[in-house]
Amino acid sequence: MPAIKSPSLSSRRRGRPAPELIFGDLWPYDPAPETADPKLKARYGLFINGRFVAPKSGKHFDSINPATEGKLAEIALAGAADVHAAYTAAQRAADTTWGRMPGRERAKYLFRIARLLQDRAREFAVAETLDGGKPIKESRDFDVPMAAAHFFYHAGWADKLAYVAPGRSVAPLGVVGQVIPWNFPLLMCAWKLAPALAMGNCVVLKPAETTSITALKLAEIIQDADLPPGVVNIVTGAGEVGAAVMGHPIPAKVAFTGSTEVGKIIMRSLAGTDKKMTMELGGKAANIIFDDAPIDQAVEGIINGIFFNQGHVCCAGSRLLVHEPVADRVLAKLKQRVQVLRVGDPLDKNTDVGAINSKEQLGRITALVKSGVREGAELFQPACPLPAKGWFFRPTIFSNVAMSHRIAREEIFGPVLSVLTFRTPEEAVEKANNTAYGLSAGVWTDKGSRILKMSTELKAGVVWANTYNKFDPASPFGGYKESGFGREGGRQGLLDYCQVT
Ligand code: NAP
Ligand code: MG
Repeated sequence: MPAIKSPSLSSRRRGRPAPELIFGDLWPYDPAPETADPKLKARYGLFINGRFVAPKSGKHFDSINPATEGKLAEIALAGAADVHAAYTAAQRAADTTWGRMPGRERAKYLFRIARLLQDRAREFAVAETLDGGKPIKESRDFDVPMAAAHFFYHAGWADKLAYVAPGRSVAPLGVVGQVIPWNFPLLMCAWKLAPALAMGNCVVLKPAETTSITALKLAEIIQDADLPPGVVNIVTGAGEVGAAVMGHPIPAKVAFTGSTEVGKIIMRSLAGTDKKMTMELGGKAANIIFDDAPIDQAVEGIINGIFFNQGHVCCAGSRLLVHEPVADRVLAKLKQRVQVLRVGDPLDKNTDVGAINSKEQLGRITALVKSGVREGAELFQPACPLPAKGWFFRPTIFSNVAMSHRIAREEIFGPVLSVLTFRTPEEAVEKANNTAYGLSAGVWTDKGSRILKMSTELKAGVVWANTYNKFDPASPFGGYKESGFGREGGRQGLLDYCQVT
């Protein structure tokens, strides 16, 4: 490969000779951190009945920046009495204000939340990146705008609820309890809150312990939007608080997004009650590349599908199924592409792969990658330097993967791609469906008829064709099999938040 001289201004400015760059290596850039002020408080209370209040226990825990291991803020630790206070406030609001308000009035509040979120978009993006570790270009260009889009979309529904179930009538359920994970902290709040509120329900929501900050900042917006007290309540803490939110007698429905393991615990604990439930659980998606696919576009789609947000994505394209005639070509291109991904400071606008959300998650990813090597798959990682502090993991590609390997079966929830091959479309469907999960899949081919056939045969809630990880508030999202049940987004998502008579 030809060697080219780097025009790096930064190194010349510092009087050092410009480094020799080999084409395909990483081009050195000066740091370009996003500088907006995230406006963090030193300490956050619980958001109950329209106000931030101290937890009854007086206890707090630290929220950590996974890129530096530094403390960002103290978060209130809720106990059972706080959860009860939140539900009591929600019930009162459902009975006296929100549940009785005409939809066209509720719409105004939802529009207000969406607009306030847009006004403070940069601030929210920086807060999300600091707390969760995702690259700023993702929180800025995806998470925050999509969260606002969900409020806009559902504001548009609030005065048209008669069309959610044409010919029948719909009514709110009352109070709902919601628990969400750490991979899209603000966006998951929007996915949960917007449809519930548009329908006239009041909510008690628990964010994940490692990423509570943007949920609490959203509570500030909810105050600024003048929502009646108790319509939205946010309680913070770890799994026990989640269990208290799911198990409380007041909510008519509980909605959970998280791991299949915890989803099953919740379902077992609620068996025999008359609570409605929706579960958005894990995934092990197959991204299927046929030999007639536009290969360069497909390679970008595969990279986006698994390395986006460090692979902390339930619908990540974590299994690549590639047609044998193009397998070597696709793998070579993928390796080349992975070598120029920038891993590092999530606040830097050039970063492609940010920090792993927690030390525990880094441990889980590392253990699964070790199992892949032990079981005989071939590992490829770029030699990129990792920051000395913080939790980072190199983008990883495994080839020669067998269906029996743990890395082909278990959700890794990290930047790790497992590559398998197939010879016929039937074999691709068979392998793609040979999993306990069924959240999403991708198909890359030039043939429209093949896309249609594959999308009916793949047992997945979402099938992307010649693209990956595309979302829209109007498009329902949800799983098959152990990926859960219920839909979020679109008219179907609203149906999960109402009584239809
Ligand atoms: P998790 O461990 O299941 O936690 C999810 C949430 O549940 C967190 O807020 C957690 O609290 C809480 N929780 C833990 N134990 C609980 C219990 N016994 N009862 C009630 N709540 C409890 O999942 P995660 O590791 O945060 O997130 C990753 C998982 O979420 C992956 O499996 C991913 O596929 C899935 N996910 C699915 C979707 C989807 O739409 N299908 C979307 C995003 C993520 P703490 O974390 O604070 O302890
Ligand atoms: Mg954090």
